Amino acid sequence: MLGKLARYLRFLGHDTAYVRDLPERELATLARSEGRTLLTRDRSLAGRAPSSLLLHESDLPGQLREVARAFPHVPFEVKFDRCPDCNIPLRPWAKPTKDSDWPTEIPRPLIDSGVPVHECPSCARRYWEGSHAARIREVVAAAIGGDGLR
Ligand SMILES: [Zn+2]
Repeated sequence: MLGKLARYLRFLGHDTAYVRDLPERELATLARSEGRTLLTRDRSLAGRAPSSLLLHESDLPGQLREVARAFPHVPFEVKFDRCPDCNIPLRPWAKPTKDSDWPTEIPRPLIDSGVPVHECPSCARRYWEGSHAARIREVVAAAIGGDGLR
């Protein structure tokens, strides 16, 4: 239900677990044991966790605004330092030394111009600042105002 929000919180660099299909009681226990704030649109579930935020908005920009308001001390800066799929911090990608080893999906002219590439140690997916990143920054900026910084 909040999968898109979870991905965006990871774009912002926040350690964000996303769990589905777990009974309420187990979700609340998991959040407690991992010291997490539970974000949910379910009032009953929010009441079970020691630390929770009940979200009212159904769309992503509205949910980002609710989170930003609830945690004014937490940075809301797009970082792209965590895999949006695995929630694992990214590491710098080592460029291949041989031209023939260059992956076809990575735009070489862009990378040669100095744009860094990062890699997920878990799924091996690679990330760099391109048009997709620009759109994500726009979504965050439109949701919370400014240029993605607060
Ligand atoms: Zn990954």
